[in-house]
Order: sequence, then C-alpha cells, then structure tokens
Amino acid sequence: MLTATNIQKYYGDLWVLKGVDLEIKQGEIASIVGPSGSGKSTLLHILGTLDKPDKGEVRVGNQRINFLNEKQMAAFRNKHVGFVFQFHHLLPEFTALENVCIPGWMAGRRKSDVEQYALSLLQMLGLEKRVDNKPNALSGGEQQRVAVARALINRPNIIFADEPTGNLDSANAHELHQLFFSLRQQFNQSFLIVTHNEDLAQMSDRILHMKDGKIV
Ligand code: ADP
Ligand code: MG
Repeated sequence: MLTATNIQKYYGDLWVLKGVDLEIKQGEIASIVGPSGSGKSTLLHILGTLDKPDKGEVRVGNQRINFLNEKQMAAFRNKHVGFVFQFHHLLPEFTALENVCIPGWMAGRRKSDVEQYALSLLQMLGLEKRVDNKPNALSGGEQQRVAVARALINRPNIIFADEPTGNLDSANAHELHQLFFSLRQQFNQSFLIVTHNEDLAQMSDRILHMKDGKIV
C-alpha cells in the first residue's frame, strides 16, 4: 500500500537519507530499528507527508504523494495517515474525547458521527471511564492510548509510530504492543513503528535496520 523509492534528504549540507527503498503491504506491521541519528524519524516524517524528500518518490496506492502541494498534503495526511509519537502531544485544555475528535472535526466529518466513533475507540482501548478527563489527569499509558485513538479517528490506512513506547514502563509498553496487533486484526491497517524496544521489534512481521541514512 506504500512504496518509497530512492528517498533522499538533506538538512543543509547534512545528507541524512541516502536513498531509501521501502514497501509496506496493507495490514503489515513493520519495525524500524537503528542507532540514534540514523534518519529514522526523518524517514517516517517523509513517508507520513509531514516533510518532503529532496529526491525520490513516495506512493500510497497509486498516488504519488510527494508531488502534492501543502494543502493537498495536509488533506491527504488527515484522511489516510495516523501518527503516534513518543510524547503524546495531546492538547491539555481539551478532554480525552475532544482530543480524539479534533482530527475528525478538522476533516469536516459530521460532529455526531465523529463523537460516536471516538467513544467506541476509547471504549475499545479501555478508556470509557476517562473520556471527560483532561490529559494531565491520565496516567502515561492512558495518555498514549488516547493518542492512539486520536490516530485512528479518520480510519487511516497506515499508522506511523515514532518510539511510541519510549516514554512508557515495560507493562504499559507491552499493552500498547498488544493493542497495535489487535487493531491490525480488526482494521487491517499497516503499521510502521520506529522502536528501541526489542520485544516490539521481534513481534512485528518484519524488522528493517537503518544505519547512516540507509536501510541495510
Ligand atoms: P533518528 O530518528 O534515527 O534518531 P533523525 O531522523 O531524527 O534520526 O535525524 C537524522 C540526522 O538528521 C541527525 O543527524 C539529526 O541531527 C539531523 N536532523 C534531524 N532533523 C533535523 C532538522 N530539522 N534540521 C537539521 N538537522 C536535522
Ligand atoms: Mg528519532
């Protein structure tokens, strides 16, 4: 469902991605591991249309996404892509439910439809008692599950997760891993996960090793 060909990226003179080729199948869970600074986050941002490559091409389905303009990219991202980061980036002044709903509202979907789906996601993630809480009243594991629900609200084809368990203890990390697998079973979306967590990497369908701007 996603194909990247010869992705290259410079930050000024720094050559960060040196020609990455990658294919992700629908429903596949792939992990990227590799040393800090090897370009993992940069690659994820490019594949997720948060950033553009200097060379190369990203296709999702048969659409070439890196030739879209900013506005088209934002629309594409909102509709097809979910992100989970190491730090949840929930909005502190909004409740868990509102945080999950916001990308759905921004996509112009009907308010009540979005709310209903957000509630069902929160319930599925074991957060039904937390819907009206603001992020700072939630535990780290709960906050991260709210972030996962938010990533799912527009039914994306692929979820990009950048060290999603980096800030969690091992019990919560384990729970989040299980969650990714049960979500895949239910929705058949793809996951591309950057992780330092050996267990998560080992559970995934495929492990990609990144080193010095390349997948080796
Ligand atoms: P990883 O996620 O594998 O740790 P990154 O993709 O974050 O690696 O970074 C790869 C390299 O690019 C690092 O040397 C980093 O310092 C540099 N880098 C990342 N983002 C920027 C940026 N916005 N501007 C300049 N250099 C950057
Ligand atoms: Mg990184």
